[in-house]
Amino acid sequence: MRPFSLLTLLILTGLTGCQSSSQPEPIQYSVPAEAEPYVQSFRDEAKKHNSTVSTANLVVTYGATQSEDVCGQCLLQSGKTPHITLSTDSFCWQQASQYERECLVFHELGHCLLGRTHKTDKFPNGAFVSLMNPDNVSVYATCRYPIGGDVCDKRTRRDYYIDELFVASTPTPDWGK
Ligand SMILES: [Zn+2]
Repeated sequence: MRPFSLLTLLILTGLTGCQSSSQPEPIQYSVPAEAEPYVQSFRDEAKKHNSTVSTANLVVTYGATQSEDVCGQCLLQSGKTPHITLSTDSFCWQQASQYERECLVFHELGHCLLGRTHKTDKFPNGAFVSLMNPDNVSVYATCRYPIGGDVCDKRTRRDYYIDELFVASTPTPDWGK
């Protein structure tokens, strides 16, 4: 199947200068029922990683993203609620596995709530170092980088990538060397 690709981060800033009369948006939370389990999973992982990140101010919608290859995007605007759009392209969501959906939602939450930007580094074995890579966010969903006799364990991979999401300085795991 096609890898998730070209996830974009759009940061629009500096718009407030000429709109001094506009009020900031109130804190709001709106997440579709289908996406809520993944946001809840993010909350659980945040807690495990002693992160104080809050999901209280968040809007997630399904809709058209900037390009047909984009499965999701995070829109951050000054004074506005972080807004994640998940593509309605069927391979992005309807045909995606539970892990693929989680990877996509976590990647966008990485942008929108953790302030993470894209990271393109790779391990010596070719695997992406981070879930925040822009080319294939399904890093632990597919286990496409088994090496030697290494049996790719999705749970082990998931643990590493989520550690790295919350703590970017997480050391290289054995399977990445
Ligand atoms: Zn991205």
